[in-house]
Amino acid sequence: MSFQCPQCTNLKTLRIINSIELAPDARSDEISLQVLGCRDCGYEGLGVYEESSRGALGSESVDHYGYQADKKTIREIQSEINRCPKPKDARCNCRSHQKLNRRDQSGRWIRPGFKPGQKTYPIKL
Ligand SMILES: [Zn+2]
Ligand SMILES: [Zn+2]
Repeated sequence: MSFQCPQCTNLKTLRIINSIELAPDARSDEISLQVLGCRDCGYEGLGVYEESSRGALGSESVDHYGYQADKKTIREIQSEINRCPKPKDARCNCRSHQKLNRRDQSGRWIRPGFKPGQKTYPIKL
């Protein structure tokens, strides 16, 4: 699946290069962290897919968004994902998962490389 690039705005050029399923947190039942790359302009960023079914009865909310991070952080996350033996298993407890599954005091997942006040953008098909 490919998406619209936030930088060059070309359609279907932004791809998920790596992704890892993370443990549920105080807000979401499903979390995956993704490394995104545009094949046209070379843009790189991080993406998050979150799914929650804890809202009102029968309601399910899905959130797919991206944010920018420096190249060093992106490379680090990419190699953490590559070191994990089971990136599709949210219950994996390897060192990479422990590193990427950090929580704040309210039990909310801490997004790697995300600076306070930083903007996110919706990921669109
Ligand atoms: Zn692009
Ligand atoms: Zn793992």
